[in-house]
Parts: sequence; C-alpha cells; structure tokens
Amino acid sequence: MTLHEVYIGHVMGCPHCYAPKNRYCTDGAHVRADYLAAYLMELEPTVAKSLMRAEKRDNPSLFPGVADRVRELQAEQVVQEDLANG
Ligand SMILES: [Zn+2]
Repeated sequence: MTLHEVYIGHVMGCPHCYAPKNRYCTDGAHVRADYLAAYLMELEPTVAKSLMRAEKRDNPSLFPGVADRVRELQAEQVVQEDLANG
C-alpha cells in the first residue's frame, strides 16, 4: 500500500477526519504528514517550497507536523547520500 492509499484509507474510514475542511484526528494528521512530506521530497525544491508556504498559510495547525516529517526525510536522505559516497 502506498502512503497515499494509507492516507485515503484512513480519511475515508475515520469518523473524525474530514479532508475537505482539513480536519484531522491525531492519526489522520500523522498519515497526512507522512504522505505529503514524501510527495514534497519528489518535487523540484522550488515547487516543494511554494507548496510548503501554501501549507503554512492554509493549514497553520498541520504545517508543523509536515515540516517535521520533511526534516526527518531530508536527514535520512543526507545519511543515504553519505553512505553512497562512502
Ligand atoms: Zn482520523
């Protein structure tokens, strides 16, 4: 299952989450941050940055969780590059 499917599966089945209003329970916010952060990592840095600015503006309560997850993924990526470079 992809992170997107995990996210959609949670939101569709959860009585507390309502994506159109960006309302999420703790678990929902977590799977959303995982999915969104992984997606952002795939994008051009300038595009990812503009999406992060939009997230901060539109979802200020959700933004910190996404930013934390992006930082974790970036740290993992740096570690992987260090490994690849020996
Ligand atoms: Zn939920």
